[in-house]
Amino acid sequence: MKFHGMKGQDIEKVLNTDFSNGLTNSDAKKRVKQHGYNELDEGEKQSALLLFFSQFKDFMVLVLLGAVLISGLLGEYIDAIAIIAIIILNGFLGFFQERKAEKSLQALKELSAPSVMVMREGEWEKIPSKELVPGDVVKFSSGDRIGADVRVIESKSLEIEESALTGESLPVAKTTEPLEKDNIGMGDMENMAFMGTMVTRGSGIGVVVGTGMKTAMGQIADLLQNAETMITPLQRKLQQLGKILIIVAILLTILVVFVGVIQGNDLYTMFLAGVSLAVAAIPEGLPAIVTVALSLGVQRMIKKNAIVRKLPAVETLGCASVICSDKTGTMTQNKMTVTHLWSGGITWRVDGVGYNPYGSFYRGEHERPVDVNREKSVQQMLMFGMLCNHAVLKEKAKNDYIVDGDPTEGALLVAAMKAGYKREGLLQQYQIVQEFPFDSTRKLMSIIVKDQSGRQFIVTKGAPDVMIGISESILWDGKRQNFSVDRKNDVQTAINELASKALRTIAIGFKEVPAKTLILDEKEAEKDLIFIGLQGMIDPPRPEVKQAVKECKEAGIKTVMITGDHLITAKAIATQLGILTKNKRVLDGNALSKMSVDELEEVVDDVAVFARVSPEHKLKIVRAFQDRGHIVAMTGDGVNDAPAIKTADIGVAMGITGTDVAKEASALVLLDDNFATIKTAIKEGRNIYENVRKFIRYLLASNVGEILVMLFAMLLALPLPLVPIQILWVNLVTDGLPAMALGLDQPEGDVMKRSPRNPKEGIFARGLGWKVISRGFLIGIATLIAFMIALNHNPDHLAYAQTVAFATLVMAQLIHVFDCRSEKSIFARNPFGNMYLVWAVISSVVLMFVVIYYPPLQPIFHTVSILAKDWLMIFGLAAAPTFLLAGTFLARKRK
Ligand code: ATP
Repeated sequence: MKFHGMKGQDIEKVLNTDFSNGLTNSDAKKRVKQHGYNELDEGEKQSALLLFFSQFKDFMVLVLLGAVLISGLLGEYIDAIAIIAIIILNGFLGFFQERKAEKSLQALKELSAPSVMVMREGEWEKIPSKELVPGDVVKFSSGDRIGADVRVIESKSLEIEESALTGESLPVAKTTEPLEKDNIGMGDMENMAFMGTMVTRGSGIGVVVGTGMKTAMGQIADLLQNAETMITPLQRKLQQLGKILIIVAILLTILVVFVGVIQGNDLYTMFLAGVSLAVAAIPEGLPAIVTVALSLGVQRMIKKNAIVRKLPAVETLGCASVICSDKTGTMTQNKMTVTHLWSGGITWRVDGVGYNPYGSFYRGEHERPVDVNREKSVQQMLMFGMLCNHAVLKEKAKNDYIVDGDPTEGALLVAAMKAGYKREGLLQQYQIVQEFPFDSTRKLMSIIVKDQSGRQFIVTKGAPDVMIGISESILWDGKRQNFSVDRKNDVQTAINELASKALRTIAIGFKEVPAKTLILDEKEAEKDLIFIGLQGMIDPPRPEVKQAVKECKEAGIKTVMITGDHLITAKAIATQLGILTKNKRVLDGNALSKMSVDELEEVVDDVAVFARVSPEHKLKIVRAFQDRGHIVAMTGDGVNDAPAIKTADIGVAMGITGTDVAKEASALVLLDDNFATIKTAIKEGRNIYENVRKFIRYLLASNVGEILVMLFAMLLALPLPLVPIQILWVNLVTDGLPAMALGLDQPEGDVMKRSPRNPKEGIFARGLGWKVISRGFLIGIATLIAFMIALNHNPDHLAYAQTVAFATLVMAQLIHVFDCRSEKSIFARNPFGNMYLVWAVISSVVLMFVVIYYPPLQPIFHTVSILAKDWLMIFGLAAAPTFLLAGTFLARKRK
């Protein structure tokens, strides 16, 4: 079907839809059944069964299978079966871990899936793009990604960048008229908008003509399958570490086996011991546990309104040292209310609550309300503020109003309503013929209107300082005056006065242009205006931000406010929030424009507020901070913010007000647009990294202990202290469960009281390497001593001594795991603070008892029942490594 050549009514007929009301919900449902979801086919997914079997491709499993084969050939069937059972159990564990990781990554993808505004049953609503069907009427504006192939039916300065499809990087202006030519390329279809392309300017309405694989994008979808899974720096480091550990473990194992054989041990036993030791010592499960810890952390963040779009960001979050945050909506509530008006040297106050459209006007400091409609300029200002406006006021419940659209415009709308104006009424008086949408670089918005007598006006609203520059006269005492230097000073004083009350200010101006004049662009429209006056609106800070700023400060993270708003307004709010303190500076967009990145770099550490900035400045700010060695989180919501978001170490986009472009560029999306959520995410990021450190520490120290006890025993010409199956058991149960639980640990109390982590820091930094070796060493020694005492006590009963050694090793690890929860000492934290860990330890202990005391398992695990007095020694020796070191910690602390 060639929709680009058709007229509106024909399209309505062909698609059986209605441009003014859209589809009905039931019709839309039917169409989903008929056309399928609006999705591109993805590559084949790995089935659960395949994933399960892939667990057995691991090198270590192959080694174990070799061991099974040899045990079997030598007639050691119990060993063979026990090892098979361990392999299968291990397979299940790996399978569940990977499955969990995969599922949470999938859930993430769905959460960040794009949504679209669609007309259903006559109302605009937001739905996931996936649910679009042919015939749907959709609305899009600057920053949106087009959700399906759409025939444009309304265009307001609509421009779309189609490089994803056509390779052409310049945006294409879109029109609505049918195109005559039949055979034209995509690049020339000026009345079509294609799935996946990006609106860079203006807004439009269109009707969906193709979805899913039937779109232009679908036809090339095969080329686009980029199922690349992202791997975090930590995971990469761990993979490298894993390789080194494999070599070390194998060398040590060979050493143990070699010494063991020389000391006269039986070759088969030593072979099996070697294999088990190698398997136990190599932390092959580490990458999977890290992925699980990362993705579980990501899930926790979602509950706290932060969506991590790129897994590596979880780690970077923990390193963040500067947060550059937008003001409006992120630090403030973005619920604006006009409280002051200024025109011709007179200030009016406006009262009323929130968006409730009732309130009175007061002149100067007078207590009695006045009728502002007697004031020509105020009346005009309110009226034009309402006309040059897209916001819609809705009554959600009785006396509970919300604004659909830009809150700044909502405030202007409500102010005019308080004076008795209605938009419908004004639209009968004035017909809007053209619009130049707001953008944060110009900081202006304009419309061209015609009144009933055919006179044509340009109405502009925007940032007052910009408006002063483009106005040539001013209304004063109801008359037009030359905009002299004195008058400009008057306006400037009024702006400063309003801004110092933390009010955001908008100026309104207009001019008449001869009816037939054709105005091509905003530059022509936005000049030589008549300045009418100012509207000042409050936007209260979000109550939780002050505390969040404080916590960030304690955590060594600097908060910087970046805003398009006026310098004085920004200063007032930044001071209220504790961002702007005595020794900090404020820099405005003008000064910023004149500085090079190098010059900015010199001073940037002292700046707490950047005001009147354009989105382009943000990139410069990010670079300057980065050059100073900072790890920067930068927020943004618009199309122009995307480069800065991408360049920042952690790009943060707004979930509610953010455009698709900003979201796609970001690593973190704030579902509630709230600054405090960034802090929460950073805290979570730090915690996840600490948890990873915790279980790396636990697993490696355990492995060191296991290897050393075997090595020392061989060197001392002792028999094997642990039989192979015991080693495998420890590896699976004692190491596995508690390590997972450590991944779920709560942050240590001071996690937000430390400085940010250095991103270059290695895994073993901050004493972790020493902790692994010293704890591992002591665990090995304690186990060896227990073994020797038991052997000495009862030299003919090797299984008894081995059982004691096994129990000591297990208990030593299970005590040590509590030490791993803290960077300081086991005494620093309440042991019951992590109930997952308590239960993991309890289950490990119970399973150990089962293995030791349950008669049918005793021959398999080469265990015998041991006595209460043995346990006394076991506990003593098992606790020694941890408490010995904790003791030295306490002693040091006392000094
Ligand atoms: P932030 O960067 O803190 O999120 P901001 O909302 O202050 O915030 P912009 O949206 O770029 O930054 O607005 C910059 C200035 O443009 C505002 O201070 C205001 O004077 C003016 N302005 C904002 N919204 C509009 C609008 N819809 N129409 C006209 N002018 C506007």
